[in-house]
Amino acid sequence: MATSQPFSILVVDDEPNNFEVIETLLSIEEAALGETQAYQLHYAASGSAALDWLALFQPDVILLDVMMPGMSGLEVCLRIKAMPQWQALPIIMVTSLTEKADLARCFAAGADDFIAKPVTRLELNARVRSMLRIRRQYQALASFNSRLEKTVQERTAQLQEMIAQDGLTRLSSRAFLLEQLAEMLQADYFSFAVVYLDCDQFKLVNSAFGHRVGNQLLLAIAKRLQQLRRPGDTLARVGEDEFCFLLRQIDSERALEPFIETILQSFVRAFEVGNCEIFMTACIGIALGDRTYQQAEEPLQDADTAMYKAKQRGKNGCQIFDRQMSVAMLERLTLETDLQRALNHHEFVAYYQPIVNLHTEALCGFEALVRWRHPSRGLVSPDEFIPCMEETGLIVPLGIAVLQQACEQLLAWHQQGHPDLTMSVNLSVRQFASPTLLADIDRVLAETGVNPAYLKLEITESALLKNVETAIDIMAQLRSRQIHISVDDFGTGYSSLSSLHRFPLNDLKIDRSFVSQMHESSRNFRIVNTIISLGDQLELTVVAEGIETRQQLEQLQDLGCQLGQGYLFSQPRSADDIETYSFQRRR
Ligand code: C2E
Ligand code: CA
Ligand code: CA
Repeated sequence: MATSQPFSILVVDDEPNNFEVIETLLSIEEAALGETQAYQLHYAASGSAALDWLALFQPDVILLDVMMPGMSGLEVCLRIKAMPQWQALPIIMVTSLTEKADLARCFAAGADDFIAKPVTRLELNARVRSMLRIRRQYQALASFNSRLEKTVQERTAQLQEMIAQDGLTRLSSRAFLLEQLAEMLQADYFSFAVVYLDCDQFKLVNSAFGHRVGNQLLLAIAKRLQQLRRPGDTLARVGEDEFCFLLRQIDSERALEPFIETILQSFVRAFEVGNCEIFMTACIGIALGDRTYQQAEEPLQDADTAMYKAKQRGKNGCQIFDRQMSVAMLERLTLETDLQRALNHHEFVAYYQPIVNLHTEALCGFEALVRWRHPSRGLVSPDEFIPCMEETGLIVPLGIAVLQQACEQLLAWHQQGHPDLTMSVNLSVRQFASPTLLADIDRVLAETGVNPAYLKLEITESALLKNVETAIDIMAQLRSRQIHISVDDFGTGYSSLSSLHRFPLNDLKIDRSFVSQMHESSRNFRIVNTIISLGDQLELTVVAEGIETRQQLEQLQDLGCQLGQGYLFSQPRSADDIETYSFQRRR
């Protein structure tokens, strides 16, 4: 067992004679095996001395006498095991036969093994060797873990950087801006203004001069706006030709006026792009900080609404959002009552989108996506009603209804001869925080009798980050029921889960915004590549969303992405259509 570095053994005993005995027995063994200096022995004559010298001796194992004056061996053992950095240090209690009754107490105090006095060479060596072996294994594992943690942290840091920045202009990204707003709202800071700026008729530039010139113009605009940014404020690119300032220390409309004036002025001069000069104007919408804001998206949405108002009046306009303005609010109220009614009338149905193995293109399972069968409007897409349901809490009963439908459907398909198919169901932030979540899931599992090992729940990054400890706890409970867990829309949260390795996950789903426009050398390509290698390192299955073209499929195959879904394979379909189209192909 000799290694280049001798093992450090600390013997704690109030009787120096006992130390000498141990030293002799260990050195006889070394000599017998022809190993020199396999062990380096240290001696402490009391418990408190042992505690003081731990850092100095860095022991690999401790031989600890139980009966000592002052601090007893049990007490020493308890104290060592209570220190995180020494928790994994093996402790062998040395105890006389008469004290053997106390063995249970030794183990309760955290001891790893014991040796009976009088100590014999055979026993001493066997026990010391076995503890040292465990020590080495532990150290190897700990160093593996810390290397893993380090690479995961590096990868997530890279990802964070990419996500916090707009790829073209290098301004902040929308995700970063939202993160800043969220922090302000969290800190009850409302002296801010969101200034939303949208270029007028930018599309004309693209169609007249092409995308390359369009991009150069965007760069020129970004540069000019950047010069207006005050220190401490944020300037982000939030859409193709949309920019947004987040200003601090703004308490009134008045305080904003000079700033708005300079922005509008900055568009008076032409922008030089290549050899040409392009004149561009922009409309501005403004939302001022307000105590009623709860979610970061709200002020952004309001500034956007105000900007639209300004656009309706023509080019170069500016509008401050005010509450009366929003007819949208009224529509929302009607929507809310409508949704409650729809829930009572069972108007929500699950559609299913196939998920395929990207290498074989074989069907592996489905994602259930809810649709509203509106009596007069026909099929309504979830983007129109999920946000409202999330806010009102209606998402909790809706989510369970979808889970129930999806589980019943999965069971039926399993019984029809497709026993290996999985079903992914979305869990919203609000559902994930619901105190009845586990009970609701258990009830659905019991009522449908579906095998939970084929069920996957999709949870977004933001839901996980709301409360990390609770999230880990709930996920552990889901995993103990064999349910799989996927992180949905991975990469869209600014944080991008730097604590990813702490969650008991199975899959990462790459958001479709990254899969689209994934030409090589693009920023999206690098993001997708990073996510896939992150998945690799953490042994998670990576699922790509929104695959629309063969080219995207081939790129994802090359990058080693395992699963995927998207219009290339199939749109979400009703259960009947799935049986007609997807299963036919399978036979
Ligand atoms: P998601 O979870 O990211 O679902 C994927 C969305 O991408 C679906 O939109 C799907 O129809 C769409 N999609 C799939 N392949 C492609 C493609 O190749 N190209 C494009 N452009 N889009 C594709 P959908 O069905 O409109 O759902 C939108 C969102 O609504 C979902 O996004 C999810 O966040 C939410 N949602 C849907 N059903 C439920 C549900 O039952 N519960 C909860 N909490 N949320 C749901
Ligand atoms: Ca999803
Ligand atoms: Ca998604």
